[in-house]
Amino acid sequence: MLTRQQSELDRLKEAFDLLGVNACHWCHKYYRRAEPGALFDAGGKLVCYACIPKWWPQCCAQLSAKEREDLEGKLVFWLKATHNAEIFKDSTKLPDSSLQELHLVAQCLECRGTGKSLGEDTCRFCTGRGTVWVIVSRKQA
Ligand SMILES: [Zn+2]
Ligand SMILES: [Zn+2]
Repeated sequence: MLTRQQSELDRLKEAFDLLGVNACHWCHKYYRRAEPGALFDAGGKLVCYACIPKWWPQCCAQLSAKEREDLEGKLVFWLKATHNAEIFKDSTKLPDSSLQELHLVAQCLECRGTGKSLGEDTCRFCTGRGTVWVIVSRKQA
């Protein structure tokens, strides 16, 4: 009985695959793969945009520093490319929280979180904090 259900499930998965839809690893909702910004490929696991804020902190906790750095870079790039995410280095410049659709704190990629650029100067991309804010603003209706 169980094997039969399993094969049914496998066939369903194949069918969804043919249709170009994939399930979010986190909430298990189905999304169209081709839709830009719908699903983030976290190294073989697909996570939908809506789940990113909940999924990312938990995912981070399971990664090594190196893995986190790689995946975070990829995530920030994806958010910029598909959701017009903006990078802020100054918290006073952030849009009002009611206007923020997504809010992440990421390691500064320019100084790799050290806050210093080569030659011991303060990193100008994060003003020495080592982290930056990644914000997706709510679409204005
Ligand atoms: Zn999801
Ligand atoms: Zn920096």
